[in-house]
Amino acid sequence: MIINISDLIRKNISKKEINVVLESKNIVDSYETIDVLDPIKVEGVINKIEETISLDGVIKGKIVLSCSRCLQNFNYDLDIEFHEELTNDPDSKDEDLIFINNDDFNLTKIVENNIVMSLPIQRLCKDDCKGLCTVCGENLNLSSCDCENSNYDPRFAKLKNLFSNN
Ligand SMILES: [Zn+2]
Ligand SMILES: [Zn+2]
Repeated sequence: MIINISDLIRKNISKKEINVVLESKNIVDSYETIDVLDPIKVEGVINKIEETISLDGVIKGKIVLSCSRCLQNFNYDLDIEFHEELTNDPDSKDEDLIFINNDDFNLTKIVENNIVMSLPIQRLCKDDCKGLCTVCGENLNLSSCDCENSNYDPRFAKLKNLFSNN
């Protein structure tokens, strides 16, 4: 979604509010494609103080993530506060600034970047997710398996060695 701020830049207003719903059905990152479940809403305000244009807002919505432990998909609520600074100075060398071209900028890109950056490295469907059995692959949240005892009990490991030597 392109947001035009010519009124901020050309006229004497110092503030512009945004309240929009993005159309993104998914977010394509360099590593993955994240499905969007509930539309992403963005509420915020663009402020212009002298030559500095800033954007502060809140991102809400619901996306689908894959659990780092059990690999099942789960719904993840977004509630992200963000802050960006923008410039329409073509000579600006500051890489942290978002460049405004023809009085407008791409809000979708800013919002998607903020969502991707806010995601935890370890994504868990629930705090105590038991994950998958490393031996048989069973989802231990849903059922249990007999693998652990035979594999992790050192006494059994010794017995196994004894038998395999014969
Ligand atoms: Zn899980
Ligand atoms: Zn198992």
